Amino acid sequence: MKTNRLPQEAPKIFIEERKRSVLVKGGDNAAALNCDEDSLAGSVSQRACVYCGARVVLNPITDAVHLVHGPVGCASFTMDIRGSLSSGTELYRNSFSTDLSEEDVIFGGEKKLAAAIDLLVARHHPKVVFVYSTCIIGVIGDDLQAVCKAASQRNNVDVIAVESSGFMGNKAAGYRAACNVLLKAMEPQDGSLVKSKPKAINFFGEFNVAGERWIVHNYLEQMGVELNVVLTGDARYEDLKRTTHAALNIVQCAGSMNYLANKMQELYDIPFIQISFVGVGDTVDTLRKIAEALADPDITAKTEALIERELAGITPALEQYRKRLTGKKAAVYVGGGFKAISLIRQFKELGIEIVVIGTQTGMKEEYQRMATLVNDGTVILDDTNPAELTGFMMELQADLLVGGTKERGIAYKIGRGFIDHNHARQHALIGFEGAINFAKEVADTICSPVWKYIPQIGGEKHG
Ligand code: SF4
Repeated sequence: MKTNRLPQEAPKIFIEERKRSVLVKGGDNAAALNCDEDSLAGSVSQRACVYCGARVVLNPITDAVHLVHGPVGCASFTMDIRGSLSSGTELYRNSFSTDLSEEDVIFGGEKKLAAAIDLLVARHHPKVVFVYSTCIIGVIGDDLQAVCKAASQRNNVDVIAVESSGFMGNKAAGYRAACNVLLKAMEPQDGSLVKSKPKAINFFGEFNVAGERWIVHNYLEQMGVELNVVLTGDARYEDLKRTTHAALNIVQCAGSMNYLANKMQELYDIPFIQISFVGVGDTVDTLRKIAEALADPDITAKTEALIERELAGITPALEQYRKRLTGKKAAVYVGGGFKAISLIRQFKELGIEIVVIGTQTGMKEEYQRMATLVNDGTVILDDTNPAELTGFMMELQADLLVGGTKERGIAYKIGRGFIDHNHARQHALIGFEGAINFAKEVADTICSPVWKYIPQIGGEKHG
């Protein structure tokens, strides 16, 4: 495929200090990409808040009260717009805050927090209360652990402090804070139950956006595999207590859950494999990897039958989309590395070349993997900002941007299509049915007649 620009040619960047966070594919230069570090001050970043990372991971626990201890602004990072679905209670959709004022900041917010917990428990009877620490709590030094412990005893319900003061690291530190909470919650009361279900697996880094957990559950059922616990899509607090019963952990969003899977391997000898249900090729590989890891001939046979059925069902439609899309170009900026890697393969399946690719929280190995999969000349960027993304999309003539809801405006302002692949969307994008949904959305977006009437800034119009 043709080269976008010369390998090693320096990309145009807007902030000098970000030089090492933006690279052009060519040889193995992605090994030098700066990543997994705190965001540059002044750069518009999406990974700068620890609380945000912790909340993303824990919020899909549906029967919990999620109480944000801090100013109301932090709680306005609300989850009720997210597409993470529940098969039961909707309690998790509420965003509660202690709404700290200046007076509380001066005199302390512990009394207000204790009163808020008592009120919420009396009103909602939750199975658990998660209390998130925010920046200001780290500054004023409220003793979250002590308040939560006392509230737990008073109300006879688990009240768990999530140590997530926003400025104490970045989003990845928030993921770890949440995983530590999950580890504590799953501690087995009876050691004999560890790995007690040889055909059961846990699914980590899956948040049931648009019901995606249920799609995977359906595949596993057909394979004869039990889905034990999902962390944390459509999870209940009680579910966490049987996490250690499974024989295997599969990890999709590695950025948020690899830490947990590693800890479980260390503590309970439960192995894990990295998987992805994004795109047809990766879904097929994932199903086979699960069957192989469980080493059961019956599961293997059922898995192959499932793959054959599903491929026969979707291949003709995918071929039609491929004919319409071949030769188009896409830019990708998503949260985690696994999704970016899978999207490279998925776009190739549709005949589309990726010209810009980046993530909010990708890890070094993930960037190295991306660099082996994209063409020379592709721009690879870590923790980017709107100015860079806009510039590279225009320069490399991307027809489409795949990102989260915050990137939508970036694409539309320069007359490009946009696909939401983050938690706010309302339709499933994983598995075989997700691959068809994705292909349809990409085709409908890129081939829409609307582009004839919208000026495309920095390039020619879409074909
Ligand atoms: S915790 Fe800090 S960084 Fe996060 S939303 Fe609140 S004020 Fe902002």
